[in-house]
Amino acid sequence: MSPAETMAARQMTLPGWTPENQERLGKSRVFLAGIGGVGGIVAQYLAMAGVGELTLVHEGVLEMPDLNRQTLMELSGLGKSRVGQASERLARQAPACRITAIDARVSGWMEPLVASADLLVDARTNFEERFLLGRLARRAGKPLVFAAMNGMEGMVVPLGPGSGPCLECLFPEGDPSWDPLGFPVLGAVSGAVGAMASVLAIRILSGYGGVPLSRMTVFEGMDLSTRSFRIRKNGRCAACREGAVPEAADHEKPWRR
Ligand SMILES: [Zn+2]
Repeated sequence: MSPAETMAARQMTLPGWTPENQERLGKSRVFLAGIGGVGGIVAQYLAMAGVGELTLVHEGVLEMPDLNRQTLMELSGLGKSRVGQASERLARQAPACRITAIDARVSGWMEPLVASADLLVDARTNFEERFLLGRLARRAGKPLVFAAMNGMEGMVVPLGPGSGPCLECLFPEGDPSWDPLGFPVLGAVSGAVGAMASVLAIRILSGYGGVPLSRMTVFEGMDLSTRSFRIRKNGRCAACREGAVPEAADHEKPWRR
């Protein structure tokens, strides 16, 4: 057994989890936008679960108010690049995971990186980057796990690579209340949402159980409840009208390499 498989020994005893599930994780490449309160948790759980490769994309340096939620960061890193710190921390925590760290906003030039990933995770806080990533995902035919939180509420949505609803169907105009400098954050809520997104990502990548796509799950931190509902395509969605999504991409696991 490799060190990564030994690390994963406890999850490999899950009922129905096969060596192939673990092998798929090891061969997986994930493009993760955002390594803050939500995305940092996703990075940690994916790396620890045995995901082979992570591309981390997040612009900016660590500031003191980030430290109520960004679990990959340390006080000694104030003023330094967050993706840089994240990649150093993950290298110590799960050395088998290959990390590429990009200190930048999600941008069009990242299209080849999106195209070479098996799954995208969107844990950014602004809709410019979210929408661009959503469109890159559709163009490349890749599944995307959307994760977001605000205050005591969080949500996750696994979106398929096919002709189903997209992020812009769901939030046609973004959400002005998500001012990245302003919305309230309880770190534990972002952690809960990051963990939920990680469960979805690990299941999609490993093929462990079927993940129902196009379902939004909302977590309410005040009463610890969740509710899930199916999301539908918006006939007036500009991103869907842009097309470029092959109809045939809806069959089982079309994103596997
Ligand atoms: Zn759409």
